[in-house]
Amino acid sequence: MSEPAAIIHPRRLKAIERRHPWVFSGAIAGVEGDPEDGALVTVRSDAGKFLARGYWNSRSSIRLRLLTWDESETIDEGFWRARLQRAIQARAVDNRIHQHGTANAYRLVNAENDGLPGLVVDRYGDWLVMQALTFGIDARKAQIAAILMDLLNPAGVYERSDVDIRQKEGLPPSMGVLAGQPPPDLIEIDENGRRFLVDVWRGHKTGFYLDQRENRAIVGDWFRWDDQAQERVVLNAFAYTGGFAVYALGSLAQRVINVDSSTDALALARQNIALNGFATSDEDFVEGDVFEVLRYYRDTGRQFDMIILDPPKFAQSPQQAETAARGYKDINWLGFRLLKPGGVLVTFSCSGGVSEDLFQKIVFGALIDAGREAQIVRRLFQASDHPVALTFPEGAYLKGLLCRVW
Ligand code: SAH
Repeated sequence: MSEPAAIIHPRRLKAIERRHPWVFSGAIAGVEGDPEDGALVTVRSDAGKFLARGYWNSRSSIRLRLLTWDESETIDEGFWRARLQRAIQARAVDNRIHQHGTANAYRLVNAENDGLPGLVVDRYGDWLVMQALTFGIDARKAQIAAILMDLLNPAGVYERSDVDIRQKEGLPPSMGVLAGQPPPDLIEIDENGRRFLVDVWRGHKTGFYLDQRENRAIVGDWFRWDDQAQERVVLNAFAYTGGFAVYALGSLAQRVINVDSSTDALALARQNIALNGFATSDEDFVEGDVFEVLRYYRDTGRQFDMIILDPPKFAQSPQQAETAARGYKDINWLGFRLLKPGGVLVTFSCSGGVSEDLFQKIVFGALIDAGREAQIVRRLFQASDHPVALTFPEGAYLKGLLCRVW
């Protein structure tokens, strides 16, 4: 029996020819055969020309995710193995070249950007944590876990597919051991010589914000050359489990105030800071809403040497960019106001719907309203183990600015 086929509207060929991995329902003029969700489908022009091959999901508006543009390439066990090997190999080479090889926690597979649409695999020490974001990957997750066991021999592969976007694929959340041993309650990882406890069972995403690793290192370097015998105080807003705090304390920051709305995140932040040998006091952990806490600091005249703003995604889609913009502007406006002259604002957005350009405009607007002066010292981006395929600009989601403020 031949593979089912999707026929593409003549006006919608370009994106596929330019190797964008998504085909939306509106681009499909007709279907030959009756593909099951998750099944492989050949993609053709109405003149019968082969365009690509991908997997199908009738429940998603992204009807097809493309895997290959080479007609002779079959999608079998060997295909998945080769793609996984390529992604894993790339990380190994990057580690050797950039000498950041002390991290034993990083992203091994970055979905569309690694030619594996819908699949995320993160390494935490001896364990792998997988997210199956699409129907096509969900249907193959046991096979993928088996290949990962074979290639990397981890202690186990654990699934954390409890992500909202699965709803758009018609899938419920799914969590559990896919292969090998269950992970311990907390996995201790090493990141650039810092130690962190990661809760891969209940933590955000797969447990840790691996995408901020290189930005944490930049923050950690900031006060290193500072020779003034001044007390440096950092405000770490949206602190989660204290990633930026551990790096800041490792340089010349004497104090880091961590603000987060989650009790559990702050408890783990406290443990992580202690694990790295730094003393803390209760006042260094503030449980609350950043929007309110920043206002309280403004009203009480508190000032900081560095403020880190790493909020959750305010825009879930480009349509929500405007509402999100108000949120970003508000915290950045407060951030500018709370900095000492010569202080540093490290500000991020991980909303895919807010472009780098728009984000800079929002931060600019906040600066003008705050009546301060500032310069961009560095543009920040997601870590290099989260690469962006040139054919898939949607892959670039994390952007940030490090600004000096007067
Ligand atoms: N900087 C962190 C990651 C931050 S994730 C790191 O490098 O690891 C965003 C965090 O913001 C989460 O811990 C979440 O609990 C917290 N959060 C979300 N909305 C909040 C709010 N309005 N006020 C305070 N914290 C909030």
